[in-house]
Amino acid sequence: MTKKFAITSKGDHKSDALKARMVQYLKDFNMVYDKKTPDIVISVGGDGTFLEAFHTYNHRLAETAFIGVHTGHLGFYADWLPEEIEKLIIEVAKNPFEVVEYPLLDIKIHPVEGDDYQQFLALNEASVKSTDGTVVLDVHIKGSHFERFRGDGLCISTPSGSTAYNKALGGAILHPSLESYQLTEMASINNRVFRTIGSPLILPKHHVCELKPTRVEKNFLITIDHRTNTYNNIKSIECRVADQKIRFARFRSFPFWKRVHDSFISDDR
Ligand code: NAP
Repeated sequence: MTKKFAITSKGDHKSDALKARMVQYLKDFNMVYDKKTPDIVISVGGDGTFLEAFHTYNHRLAETAFIGVHTGHLGFYADWLPEEIEKLIIEVAKNPFEVVEYPLLDIKIHPVEGDDYQQFLALNEASVKSTDGTVVLDVHIKGSHFERFRGDGLCISTPSGSTAYNKALGGAILHPSLESYQLTEMASINNRVFRTIGSPLILPKHHVCELKPTRVEKNFLITIDHRTNTYNNIKSIECRVADQKIRFARFRSFPFWKRVHDSFISDDR
């Protein structure tokens, strides 16, 4: 069967030139460039570019496998080097590939009135902040009230997103084979009157977490990966591990902990 592919680019000169070369090489191998229904999506740029590719094709996760090529520094999703693309193209065009799946986050924003809700999938995280003062949210876990959070906001991340914003907030790095998600605080208010747990929480797949504003008229900034919107009249923000997963086409071994090491410790031995 002919394989269909799409390539997204960061849009800078280097990424666009690499994309043009890859499109030509893959067509030379009789693969079909199909932006609408690709079997393989190749993102060229950085992890930010990869997030955009994920959101462009997140309606067909079951049919699509992703590959990330980086044109800047090593990424967590964009982990192929520009020098490796000839090898990568031959693998993509000629060989059946193994698929590695990573968990995603399912976010539902429920309004105060009506039953309609907005649903999102996040590859890295969702974060909740406010434009008007302290964020106050009642945190419910598995239907029970856990705490009233007061502070700058909360970050709910996937295991593969745990190396991004979550890490900067003091969260743990989670291996993406763990079907889980993590809740981290942003500058919580803790004194004799107000109290939060203070530690990041790691929740399993079957535990739903709901964040309920105490004042519905308040404006919240909700960011899903790299996209931010303002909301008010929110009844709850429901978070759980998504049923869907992202699928990566795997052609060589590049273990997660090696990527963590090379990104944050050193890329020499
Ligand atoms: P950006 O502000 O331009 O870049 C954020 C940085 O995070 C980039 O260096 C990006 O890598 C890196 N990154 C993205 N996903 C990552 C991952 N899973 N593990 C490790 N690093 C990762 O924003 P953007 O490019 O649109 O990306 C949005 C992401 O920025 C959000 O999902 C959030 O995780 C992250 N963020 C981080 C902080 C922080 O660390 N204080 C604050 C806000 C948002 P590339 O350079 O390869 O693109």
